[in-house]
Amino acid sequence: NDALLEVDDLHVEFVTRAGLVKAVNGVSYSLMPGESLAVLGESGSGKSVTAQAIMGILDMPPARIPQGSIKFRGTDLLKLSEDARAQIRGQRIAMIFQDALSALNPVFTVGWQISEMFRVHRGMSKRDALKKAVELMERVRIPGAKQRVNDYPHQFSGGMRQRIMIAMSIALDPEVLIADEPTTALDVTVQAQIMELLAELQRESNMGLILITHDLGVVADVADKIAVMYAGRIVENAPVRDIYKNPGHPYTKGLLESIPRVDLKGQELYAIKGLPPNLLDMPSGCAFHPRCPYRQDNCVTDVPPLNEINLDRNSACHYWREVLDGSHG
Ligand code: SF4
Ligand code: MG
Repeated sequence: NDALLEVDDLHVEFVTRAGLVKAVNGVSYSLMPGESLAVLGESGSGKSVTAQAIMGILDMPPARIPQGSIKFRGTDLLKLSEDARAQIRGQRIAMIFQDALSALNPVFTVGWQISEMFRVHRGMSKRDALKKAVELMERVRIPGAKQRVNDYPHQFSGGMRQRIMIAMSIALDPEVLIADEPTTALDVTVQAQIMELLAELQRESNMGLILITHDLGVVADVADKIAVMYAGRIVENAPVRDIYKNPGHPYTKGLLESIPRVDLKGQELYAIKGLPPNLLDMPSGCAFHPRCPYRQDNCVTDVPPLNEINLDRNSACHYWREVLDGSHG
């Protein structure tokens, strides 16, 4: 087994005044070198918390991990000392966040901030590090990098700032890059450009990419496979083409039908009715049952297992066969 990253039966809980919040409830996924996984779900589904657990940046306490493992090249990150994890974080496993403006320091030039990666972690001189910064800015296709290296973050557009964040995240050639809603703050055209850039960088470097998003519309061309999360669990995982062709879980189907389509302009969008569950007061049985158009009586009482549809595909729905059939035509 040559998996780059293997999350197995991960549980993450938060101790709050209102009670114990089970934010991640037995999540498993794996990533091979050069592979791209999209983790999809609404806010509160546990997709970001899972990523934070991989990075080792959960607030600790009140967060705790009562169960599970996160293996990076065979080593369980949860068993490493904080020092050992700090060696991996940002270097071998890097992360890009949603909000590039607040992540960049307004009082330093972008060149200084990018080159800091090389000064701090590679011990380079200021001059060499700045040269590397320009190279990186070119690599993430910032026009006029040589001139712009001395500009400040506010002098760049939102899309260009996100490119700067991407440059910083790939500076040390990470083996895994986690992008948490990297395009949410950007307009649609720029979103597509940033996704394309991530896909290109990944192809060039063979790194593993985990793309966290609530928007199934942005991942089609970037992801190899998709894990759909709902209420702290994976409800469906499958190769990306299978999901688009024929979703195997009612929630995935709803997400797919919520993607804006140019050919249906003006028509009302199907949106999944109702709200994501309150993690302090989870519905019985299948957590999706209050919102599910396929619900039957046993859905209210029996938690669906993650059924194997085929070798590389699972659905946590009692009625996945009906859902698959219903998607034809
Ligand atoms: Fe819907 Fe039942 Fe499937 Fe849950 S198990 S998604 S409620 S049909
Ligand atoms: Mg989030």
